[in-house]
This record gives sequence, structure tokens and C-alpha cells, in this order.
Amino acid sequence: MNNAMSKDGKLFVIPCSGIGKALGTVGRTAMYEVVEKLRPNETTTVCLPLLTIGDETVLKLVRNNPCISIDGCPFQCANKNIEASKGRLAASFMVTDVLRENRDLKPEGVAELGPKGLKLSSILAQKITEKVDEINSR
Ligand code: SF4
Repeated sequence: MNNAMSKDGKLFVIPCSGIGKALGTVGRTAMYEVVEKLRPNETTTVCLPLLTIGDETVLKLVRNNPCISIDGCPFQCANKNIEASKGRLAASFMVTDVLRENRDLKPEGVAELGPKGLKLSSILAQKITEKVDEINSR
């Protein structure tokens, strides 16, 4: 089984690239927590730029499996790329929404989120995990 095939049948958690933005780092960190620690058997991820360049294998995966987008800001690059790729978008999260609900948890910086940024990321990861469970129970 190749790597792409092993991803079939899982729920795709896809963060925006968010380069240079601390909230982009929060989104990616939350994704890793879900995919590697909280729901490793049910979820996986993929590089968003592969959708942008129209990689056939990845397009097939996001069209055949439910996807959750995570965006660092209202530009919503992950959400829009999944929709433009005709992916099965099952839910969308924006880090800015979670920060609005937890105003005291502002990350310290892009490379180092600091304790507050990591806490924000964990709260987001928990929300995503609840959504994964909800989608899988439908
Ligand atoms: S959604 Fe915002 S933070 Fe994420 S890649 Fe797009 S512009 Fe950057």
C-alpha cells in the first residue's frame, strides 16, 4: 500500500500554510495534535499546496473523504482551496474565532507560540476532535 492509499478512508484535517503568521502556526500545531495524538487512527492531513497545483492523487483523496479546514485568518485559504478542488468540506475552523473566545491566549510569536499560544492550539485541537467524532458518528 502506498502512502496516498493508506490515507483513504480517513478524515482530512487541512491547515492553511500561514507562513509568517502566529495564528497559522497555531492552526498547524492544532492539526498535529489531532492527527498524531488525539485521533491518529481516524484522521490524516495533506499539504495544501498540492491542492493548489492540482495533484491528481490528492484531489481524489479530498473528494472521496471528509475534510476539515483550519485557517489562520479570514482569507480562509484552506477552506477556499478545498472548495475550489471540489473536496468534501465537512467543517471549517478559523483560529481568529478561537482567539476571540480566549482573548488572554495570544501567541508570543510565529516560531515559538509560548505557553498561551500552545494553550490556544490545544483548545482548537479539542474543538476539531469533537467535530471529528461528530462527523464519524453520522
Ligand atoms: S488563511 Fe490567512 S494565515 Fe492562512 S495562509 Fe491564508 S492568508 Fe495566510
